[in-house]
Amino acid sequence: MTRVPVLAANWKMFKTTHETLAYMRELGVLVKTLDGGEVEVVVAPPFPSLVTAAEAARNTGVGVAAQNVYFEREGAFTGEVSAAMIKEAGAGYVIVGHSERRRLFGDTDQAVSRKLRAAISAELVPIACIGETLEEREAGKTDDVLDRQIRDGFAGLAPAEVAALIVAYEPVWAIGTGKNATPAEAADAHHHIRTRLGEWFGRETADQCRILYGGSVKPDNVAALTALPDVDGALVGGASLDVASFFKIVTGGLAARPK
Ligand code: PEP
Repeated sequence: MTRVPVLAANWKMFKTTHETLAYMRELGVLVKTLDGGEVEVVVAPPFPSLVTAAEAARNTGVGVAAQNVYFEREGAFTGEVSAAMIKEAGAGYVIVGHSERRRLFGDTDQAVSRKLRAAISAELVPIACIGETLEEREAGKTDDVLDRQIRDGFAGLAPAEVAALIVAYEPVWAIGTGKNATPAEAADAHHHIRTRLGEWFGRETADQCRILYGGSVKPDNVAALTALPDVDGALVGGASLDVASFFKIVTGGLAARPK
């Protein structure tokens, strides 16, 4: 089964609209130089820059993602943004359940489940983030945490919906810390996730679903991670803020993919 790799940039709360435009123009030119082989290169700017990013990305092959979504269609929810609004802004993807949302803003697995369903209904591709904290890893609970996040977060999704979404395995202790998972740790976690997807949603679903690694991915460590058979790309935070660094991650990640 060949899965199209995904290299996604999560800018978090960085970059103004002007900075977004400059970055997207430069990235568009670089992505056009990629020869052969399918890839999805995705950029997730803050909400105010979605339209600018989507317009600049047109005809470049670069996709645009929102960093969060609210699950209601509309209403008195000050400060929230719906899936339909994100879609109309021109984005094709949305990050759901990022550990910063879970830790700082109280997103539960139940909220993640509702957000995933809202995103899918609006025909956005969710990038669903899961991953354990350091405390959970040290207590030997990594697999249990991943199981809970998949079981409760993906509750009510049809196998075809799970096959079409993108999972990002992001160990919380590796995000923004400069400490990435070793290839062996990433291989174990990705294998576990794919096995569970197979058991709960069917073998075909598990074979189709892209699973990205995220957590301190840099130009010099991306190859060792994307060379793993169950790793289908990367979700990159800090090292994606510089366009040259992100493009090095794209090319380095692609070159290392198993043929
Ligand atoms: C992220 O924000 O999803 C992330 C992986 O961040 P960083 O690459 O900075 O660890």
